[in-house]
Amino acid sequence: MISDAVIQTIAGFVPQENIRLKEPMNRHTTFRIGGEADCFVEIENMEQLQRIQRYLRIVGLPFLVMGNGSNLLVSDRGYAGIVLRVGPRMQQIRFQEDRMIIQAGALMSQVAKAAYEQGLTGFEFASGIPGTIGGGVVMNAGAYGGEMSQVVAGVKVIDQEGDVLELDNETMEFGYRTSAIKSHPFTVVEVTLQLAPGNREAIRSRMNELASKRREKQPLEYPSAGSTFKRPEGYFAGELIMKAGLRGFQIGGARVSDKHCGFIVNTGNASYEDVRDLIAHVQEKVKELFSVDLEPEVIFVE
Ligand SMILES: Cc1cc2nc3c(=O)[nH]c(=O)nc-3n(C[C@H](O)[C@H](O)[C@H](O)COP(=O)(O)OP(=O)(O)OC[C@H]3O[C@@H](n4cnc5c(N)ncnc54)[C@H](O)[C@@H]3O)c2cc1C
Repeated sequence: MISDAVIQTIAGFVPQENIRLKEPMNRHTTFRIGGEADCFVEIENMEQLQRIQRYLRIVGLPFLVMGNGSNLLVSDRGYAGIVLRVGPRMQQIRFQEDRMIIQAGALMSQVAKAAYEQGLTGFEFASGIPGTIGGGVVMNAGAYGGEMSQVVAGVKVIDQEGDVLELDNETMEFGYRTSAIKSHPFTVVEVTLQLAPGNREAIRSRMNELASKRREKQPLEYPSAGSTFKRPEGYFAGELIMKAGLRGFQIGGARVSDKHCGFIVNTGNASYEDVRDLIAHVQEKVKELFSVDLEPEVIFVE
């Protein structure tokens, strides 16, 4: 439980209406799963983050930075700490020639639309990924041959002490669905993308093409967190899961999608445990049959 004194202190850093107590996390995750966070704070700018994080570290309270919650599986017991959402109130986008300077809470779909409107190419691949640019950088999100590492010129973060650091592409240590930020307690506040002048018609038609591929291949009609597993080297997770006979396999309300076996979906009332147990079952079967370890891409929050 978070004490009144802590809440009052946080209210000194952000407007009271940005603070919610006992906030159900299923409202903030694309899986539509997750119990209550003790405290949920909508962040508006870097200064607020700096002040709150400095304070929370001094008093030793746990916190979780989140974006759009599109890669999170949150426990039904919720989160015992403070969730700092870098989302709808941090979405400004600026242009500097072929560069875009973007606050971390902007959605990748918004960024792709703004790039298109400006006639800049290079970000079409991310137009259908339902996360923030901050979350996208952390995860090195990618699709259809593109990934964040190809377009990120720089990332502004705050570190444990609340100090601002500017990281270049190399320092970000991008890898497959990972970056330096996954192993460092940094919070992304701003991302600079280097794009290139392009033909607006071509940009739009590429985005439309990718959107229809997604609609055709992915079970977008159900809540999920996208691909549940990382792609194992030399294989496709979905194909292995299908060959293991797990298409449509269900535990409680969690189901291996019939449309795309790489997705575990919430059919309506899945619990955290349902999804967790289904992930474990899939891992076990695939290991037994093909000697391949499937590593979750989804991030567990307990
Ligand atoms: C239908 C669907 C399709 C998807 N398709 C793709 C796809 O094609 N390619 C792909 O790569 N992913 C895909 N995803 C997964 C997801 O959208 C990406 O991983 C995305 O980058 C997550 O961004 P987010 O803002 O939702 O982050 P969250 O889910 O909120 O957080 C993810 C991680 O990033 C951290 N984080 C978030 N914001 C910040 C910040 N500002 N500073 C520091 N840490 C932060 C969180 O602590 C957490 O560890 C898909 C998901 C869904 C539901």
